[in-house]
Amino acid sequence: MVELAPGSEPQLHLDLRQPERHLVQARLELVPRHRRLELRLPAWTPGSYLIRDYVRTLEALEVRQGGRRWAVERREVACWTVDLDALDPVTIHWRILATELSVRTCHLNSDHGFLALAGVALLVEGERWNRYHLNLQLPQGWQAFVPLPADPSGGWWAEDFDQLVDTPVEVGPHPQHGFAVAGVPHRWVGWGGDLPSRDPSWLAAVEQVCLACCRLMGASTPPAAHYLFVLHLLEQGYGGLEHDHSCVLQYGRQALARPDGRRKLLQLVAHEYLHQWNVRRLRPAQLTPIPYHQPAIVPTLWFAEGITSYLDLLLPRAAGLTTEEEVLEDLGADLSRYLLTPGRHGQSLRQSSQEAWVKLYRQDAYSADSQVSYYLKGAVVALMLDLHLRRHGSWLGAVLQELWSRFGASRRGYGEMDLLAAFCSHAEDLSTILPKWLESTDDPTIDSYLADVGLRLLPNYFTHWSFGWQVDSDRGGLRLKRVERDGAAEQAGLEVGDELIAIAGARLRQPEDLHSLGTAQLQSQPQLQPIEPMELLMCRDGRIRSLTIQPAPPQIQTWRLAPLPEAAPGSGERRQRWLGLRP
Ligand SMILES: [Zn+2]
Repeated sequence: MVELAPGSEPQLHLDLRQPERHLVQARLELVPRHRRLELRLPAWTPGSYLIRDYVRTLEALEVRQGGRRWAVERREVACWTVDLDALDPVTIHWRILATELSVRTCHLNSDHGFLALAGVALLVEGERWNRYHLNLQLPQGWQAFVPLPADPSGGWWAEDFDQLVDTPVEVGPHPQHGFAVAGVPHRWVGWGGDLPSRDPSWLAAVEQVCLACCRLMGASTPPAAHYLFVLHLLEQGYGGLEHDHSCVLQYGRQALARPDGRRKLLQLVAHEYLHQWNVRRLRPAQLTPIPYHQPAIVPTLWFAEGITSYLDLLLPRAAGLTTEEEVLEDLGADLSRYLLTPGRHGQSLRQSSQEAWVKLYRQDAYSADSQVSYYLKGAVVALMLDLHLRRHGSWLGAVLQELWSRFGASRRGYGEMDLLAAFCSHAEDLSTILPKWLESTDDPTIDSYLADVGLRLLPNYFTHWSFGWQVDSDRGGLRLKRVERDGAAEQAGLEVGDELIAIAGARLRQPEDLHSLGTAQLQSQPQLQPIEPMELLMCRDGRIRSLTIQPAPPQIQTWRLAPLPEAAPGSGERRQRWLGLRP
């Protein structure tokens, strides 16, 4: 225990020396400002809009002062008070069970440790804007990768509780690689595979993506004075979380081995790095400051995530790392996913942003029919905005740069009206068009904008009749994991979880048994002939039932971007400037 003088900064000590027990031993030392000590653990972490109730991993909370142990009274699920009789230094002890591997939770085992400090750090009432000192105790041979200024006498300093919570802590015996972006020091740390030693041009590619982000924002250097990339390379997985001075990425080794694996990882790098500006510093007013104990309803998440998702496809292209064909393939895939999401007609983009806490982060088998992701539709609207602004002689980068200088650089939170005003100052008619895109559940006029750059969308159809279901065979048997709204399966009375036993007199055992269903007619008949209803045997809740299903004509499987025949003069040049993120 250290001697703390009155007014000195709280010291957070985290002991990770028993990784095989998955327990983080935490200790917070501070001089109390009040006799009533109020302690809270955040319920969520910025960038991931779901109440996670981190308190479920907290154990053995106790408060000591000198030799005395005080009674801790629980006031709320993640709030406690302690009534002291003196303002002498106190030590708060607790443990965190770190068994959940994601970019926003804590994971500690004999291979490594990762801490999302929102799930670890207790906030003491009155200490939010105080500096914090962070100390770590590690197993032998491990080192810590912490994106905070180091204290020469040990540990690190965080400017306040927000910066502490914004600090992902990775620990382990991993190698670390340093590189610079416009003279600013950057580090790359990977767990599960050391990408820079497997791919000697990896760090140079990352640097080029970072520089493309700076150019997009009209900046000569990134806003952070130092930056840390943490990559968890897992057998499977995908995710990222942005921070002011770092980001944490999760990516699959299987995905990386695919032909487009490196490109998609570079897009993830671009996405999280651009968040350094968009959402971390250029931040919605509702997150300024961040309410850690309750959801913040942010109607502009489409801007924070959708704009970033659109640009993350273009940034590697602007960095010269991908081809025009590749970026059109990726944009086409996003447009396809959007056009094949029926829920876009049930939820507007603004609603999707506002309902993130209860919908996007809590998906179930019916979500595709009732919601549309603000990442996905936000990216589609970002594409429309960029092409609309280009009609008016401007582009998306110019609006971002203006918003950055008005709000981001000074860290003043923006509201939806501020975004609207910025877009309208570059194209006046967006004052009526943009609100419609945000509020309506109709599709924007995508085709007309694509024509500006010599492109169109073409459908590819399934070659079999549509049953309106998706099947899962993981648990043995064929079970319905999705029943499309208004589709053939729903009209026949099927629901998610039903097990398919037989159809048209033939036993069903594996997914392949469904593949040939209803295809013969299609392949042999240029003109689609009506197909007869089929008898279906299924099992629900342990009981066998028989019903009749009438398959529907083949549906669109995907959309793809293709050149527009007889494109307008200049569209090729416009397409290259657009894809290269040039005005
Ligand atoms: Zn994001």
